[in-house]
Amino acid sequence: MARKYKIAVMPGDGIGPEVTAEAVKVLKATDMRFEFLHCDVGGKAYLERGDPLPPEAVEASDEADAVLFGAVGHDYAPYEIPRKVLVYLRVDKDAYVNLRPLKLYPGVYSPLWRRSSKGVDLVIVRDNAEGFSLQHSGLLGNSIGTDRRVITHFGAQRIIRFACDYTVKKGRKKITCVDQSNWLFSDKLFRNVFSEVVERYPNVRRDFRHVDVAAMMLTRNPLNFDVIVTPDIYGDILSGVVIGMIGGVGMAPSACIGDNFAFFEPVHGTAWDLAGKGIANPIASILSAKLMLEWLREEEAAQIIDTAVSEVLAEGKVRTRDLGGNSSTSEVGDAIAAKVREIHDEGICLQDQPSLEESPQNRRRCETLSDFK
Ligand code: ATP
Repeated sequence: MARKYKIAVMPGDGIGPEVTAEAVKVLKATDMRFEFLHCDVGGKAYLERGDPLPPEAVEASDEADAVLFGAVGHDYAPYEIPRKVLVYLRVDKDAYVNLRPLKLYPGVYSPLWRRSSKGVDLVIVRDNAEGFSLQHSGLLGNSIGTDRRVITHFGAQRIIRFACDYTVKKGRKKITCVDQSNWLFSDKLFRNVFSEVVERYPNVRRDFRHVDVAAMMLTRNPLNFDVIVTPDIYGDILSGVVIGMIGGVGMAPSACIGDNFAFFEPVHGTAWDLAGKGIANPIASILSAKLMLEWLREEEAAQIIDTAVSEVLAEGKVRTRDLGGNSSTSEVGDAIAAKVREIHDEGICLQDQPSLEESPQNRRRCETLSDFK
């Protein structure tokens, strides 16, 4: 019998609970077995329990095979309080990789749409553990602000190794080191370590770009990039550029991965302006659940979720307001979950399917949808 996975579910605040519920719905539609350990964390837990990270959440994250996370932050809980949860998950649990696969799905409007018929499909591997440190930053009165940035050989080596292994495992071809090594010493070290590590991957093409050039090249043609490995802040900024081309933050999943622990969260945060209205796009959260399945080595189930998302978006009937539709959060989750069940029932052989971007049927769908802004 298939293994049963324990998943700690931490929906958190704002739209976190709404989008995470849809990711759980889609996971339940697969043919896999899960036990979900639901835990309140963040501003809500702080207000109700006096602790943003109650002991059962810590226990659940230790006990679970993976953590599915929403977002934390509350306008009426002090900023640092909900952040305690993120510091625990990222720093204490040493989830040093921030993986952001960013893809333009069929039928989603992109400013590049007409220029780049093959769309966007790249992965940003961003260092989650090093770089700017809050411990070494501060304001001196009203006149001086300082930040200190630290990159170590150890930290750079492990993130770059992860990126190279990921490139090989996923059959990707090229890895680009993005830095500002022409004037920052910490980036000179990062680039040197990249050169050292990448030597051991003879089948991976390597490239080096300064961050300003990388940003310019991304906007001209994102297909110039396959996998990008970069220190923390550049990863954030470049993701922002790419996310603008794939339909916005509602389409951007992420994984935070360590050697023995990982949690999965949409790139977006609490979005309090949308909370409680049932209109947030749950796809970033659903695709984060898909990344979780990949990390659990359940590649086939992950691929089915990806295909279901592609199909629902290509059909264009169900989509939230950020993508130009008027469906609710739960209608999108229902449609994707139904599609996952349909794919199971039909026993579609995913390997034999043409890629959605390439199929003539899909090209027609995209053409119909391309007028949507
Ligand atoms: P935080 O402070 O927790 O990062 P935020 O509201 O400042 O939260 P985001 O949550 O990233 O930042 O959201 C920025 C904007 O993007 C939101 O105001 C919202 O309008 C939009 N947005 C975010 N997530 C979604 C989503 N899932 N679906 C649709 N729009 C979204």
